[in-house]
Amino acid sequence: MASIEVHDERFRILADENAPLRKLFGGTVWAEGPVYFSDARMLLWSDIPNNRMLRWVDGLGTDEFRRPSNFSNGNTRDREGRLVTCEHLGRRVSRTEHDGTITVLADRYQGKRLNSPNDVVVKSDGSVWFTDPDYGIMSNFEGKKSESEIGKNLVYRIDPSNGRVDAVCDDFDKPNGLAFSPDEKLLYIADTGHSEREGGAHHIRVFTVGEGGHLSGGTVFTEIKPGLADGFRADVEGNIWTSAGDGVHCYDPAGRLLGKVLVPEVVANVAFGGEGGRTLFIAASTSLYAIALSVRGAART
Ligand code: MG
Repeated sequence: MASIEVHDERFRILADENAPLRKLFGGTVWAEGPVYFSDARMLLWSDIPNNRMLRWVDGLGTDEFRRPSNFSNGNTRDREGRLVTCEHLGRRVSRTEHDGTITVLADRYQGKRLNSPNDVVVKSDGSVWFTDPDYGIMSNFEGKKSESEIGKNLVYRIDPSNGRVDAVCDDFDKPNGLAFSPDEKLLYIADTGHSEREGGAHHIRVFTVGEGGHLSGGTVFTEIKPGLADGFRADVEGNIWTSAGDGVHCYDPAGRLLGKVLVPEVVANVAFGGEGGRTLFIAASTSLYAIALSVRGAART
């Protein structure tokens, strides 16, 4: 079966119809949060219900990177290449220092505990942006059943100068994946409210990023069908590669579907990496897949 489905001729420049979808690992319960370390030719990702993070190294294979992982979810790297992780159980965003010690970047907002940070991205100015839906406190499957202290599912920005945590969006049902456009003028944020509610959101919204992290706009960029935009990344040309129910969908900056990478499992998230940043790593339920593309990931996604 071809793994590429072309919806717009422009997609043929981004993806090669003959590129195989390679399965790199099988054995997770729910793969999420992939992040690539080009300096180590390594991909880290979360296996949320198994309370662990895995490490795939090119040419070597896969082993456990961290266990327990506090039911980690989304991961990214900061400007210094350090791992930044969303933890459901810890109800926090943490940073793994170069010496392996862990620093808490955020665990409270206005004195109240966060819900369960889901996905995170670091802007080039050092600010850390993350979503905080309540998935990790709704049950014990992906965290620990607990009350929400904040009572809302917000999106936050951590100020790089003083570590202050500010809410930047308060009108999401379940804010989830997020990524900047290559020039960082736009921030895309998914709402996956449909996962818990018939008629709930299954779309990505786009915001204009202003001074001091102020967001404006927020119109719907695209609706995802089938499935949800749990996690996504931008390529250097500003196209958005997002998880969906039937694989990975690629949308141009205007929100038009260019094509799909069909995957035989529900996809949760993706990350660019590999040689030249042109491999798309796909965290899909029980497996990690990869496919070679002709476009590279944006520097900061
Ligand atoms: Mg997510």
